[in-house]
Amino acid sequence: MAVRPTRRKFLQGSAAVLGSGMLGYSADLAHVTSSREVLREFPFGDVVITGGPLKQQYDRIHASYLALDNDRLLKVYRQRAGMAAPGPDMGGWYDADGFVPGHSLGQYVSGLARIGAATGDPACQRKVRELVLGFGATLGADNQSIIRPQTNLWICYTLDKHFAGLIDACTLAHVSEARNLLPRVFDGSRSLMPEHGHDRMGKKNPPYDETYVMPENLFSAYQLTGRHEFQATALNYLLDHDFFDPLARNENVLPGRHAYSHAIALSSAAKAYLVLGDEKYRRAMAFAWTCLTTEQQFASGGWGPSEQFVEPHQGKLYESLSSTVDHFETPCGAYAATKLDRYLLRMTGDPRYGDHLERVVYNTLLGVKQPDSEGDYPYYSTYGPKATKVWYPHKWPCCSGTLVQGVSDYVLNLYFRAADGVTVNMYAPSELRFEQNGVKIKLTQTTDYPAGEMVSMRIDSSLPQVWTLRLRIPGWLEGPARITVNGTAAAPAKPGTFAALRRRWKGGDLVELRLPQEFRAEPIDDLHPNVVAVMRGPLMLVAIDPPDGLEKRPLPIEEGFRALGQRADAWTRNEGGQQIVFLPFYQVQNEQYTTYFTRG
Ligand SMILES: [Zn+2]
Repeated sequence: MAVRPTRRKFLQGSAAVLGSGMLGYSADLAHVTSSREVLREFPFGDVVITGGPLKQQYDRIHASYLALDNDRLLKVYRQRAGMAAPGPDMGGWYDADGFVPGHSLGQYVSGLARIGAATGDPACQRKVRELVLGFGATLGADNQSIIRPQTNLWICYTLDKHFAGLIDACTLAHVSEARNLLPRVFDGSRSLMPEHGHDRMGKKNPPYDETYVMPENLFSAYQLTGRHEFQATALNYLLDHDFFDPLARNENVLPGRHAYSHAIALSSAAKAYLVLGDEKYRRAMAFAWTCLTTEQQFASGGWGPSEQFVEPHQGKLYESLSSTVDHFETPCGAYAATKLDRYLLRMTGDPRYGDHLERVVYNTLLGVKQPDSEGDYPYYSTYGPKATKVWYPHKWPCCSGTLVQGVSDYVLNLYFRAADGVTVNMYAPSELRFEQNGVKIKLTQTTDYPAGEMVSMRIDSSLPQVWTLRLRIPGWLEGPARITVNGTAAAPAKPGTFAALRRRWKGGDLVELRLPQEFRAEPIDDLHPNVVAVMRGPLMLVAIDPPDGLEKRPLPIEEGFRALGQRADAWTRNEGGQQIVFLPFYQVQNEQYTTYFTRG
């Protein structure tokens, strides 16, 4: 088992590598990192989503964040620096007198850098550059970036987002100035940062902060700059004693903790594992994932009613259906969940993590109410009866930052690189360009999944090459999936596996996959096995415009649904002489809906 390097060994190592130059160091560390991954993400730009609901949302998010006004975004930073600050206030959380002034600028930069790298849109790259340079101009001689330092409030919470934006601006939008801003921003805030990492400090003993979400980006900042303080601070802020150590010993320390911040802290564990090689972090992540998915989650894949993990085996999820409407902090929580799923998939190659990634994407992130240009954003998803999708009452909340990051990552969720070929994890109309043995290959995926059940993949390649195409066969399938290659049946593929097709692939080869979807009931918790959500394939279905008390009537989930007209993605059933329409949660707009029912 690999162990965490001692500080001395670490310093020796970094000194040796730094001596060989920055680029050499980065390449060296990238090699170490990849040896701990079974699957790797494709770079932004290799995958294009070409149609379907994911693309519709991706394009809307691309346009709406590109339209944000730079002067307004930079206004609080310019005000702090005593510079001319044109443009109206942003309002809400973002203003100088708001909840966390300027907190999400880095996340908007990060999301736009990712979208720019994926789409090649020069307007995204330009906007990232303008925002980074505009932000840099406000730092001044003291390098202060944090607004309202006199209250010492939310320093690490905000810094982490600054770092994410600067890292992505540098690596994805090629704004080289961002690399130099990283140490300046760090230095300017150093005196405000806590000496040691704490779990949710400020809950009992102010000032409030979340140090433990930082290491993921601090490790990356070190990889990018070679500056030792980033890594030393990452090590210092890893939440080992209170969180990762007990999780690695299979002790469930989730109940009562703040949901999003501890879920995103698992991304810090992931980066710690990839950089340091200490298996402890991978064990902690895997155990936390098991607790999350077996004891904490709603059918959507979301968790944390009123932002807290529940005590399991006490019926708390069921109770929350009537005690709150704040069931899942969606863009933030979904961003944390998709990152955790992708990290674990990369480290293990286990398709369960791919199943979960699909569930979370379709039923949470894709299902949020579309933001408007004046700062109205989704925050909580509601799973109680007769709910509607609403915006958060305060403008520019945390979820405005994670929404663009989570959606811009969609292109990372579809395909992964394996040593011997390509793994297809999600099914959506898309194109992947990659090289196998130096030969350029294009994989084109055509499908109306998840509404439909057929997926086609065509290979374009100038020279035949031997490689392995792996297809995720979802665990929710009731029977083996049928796959054909150029019309000839391949061996049936078991649910919950990756089907491996190894052959000499040539241009024009066609793979067809059928994923039949059935209705099934998913209980809310172990004490309430008859309170269930309706699932079909990866999708959570909800009743639209439900009559009073629908959730209490006995509903036989596995029968009674009929297609609504010619639609493949809408269903109807007769309940007491009344036709009730069921839609995938992601299709709900302004209608009232009910998510949980009584199994009949
Ligand atoms: Zn949030």
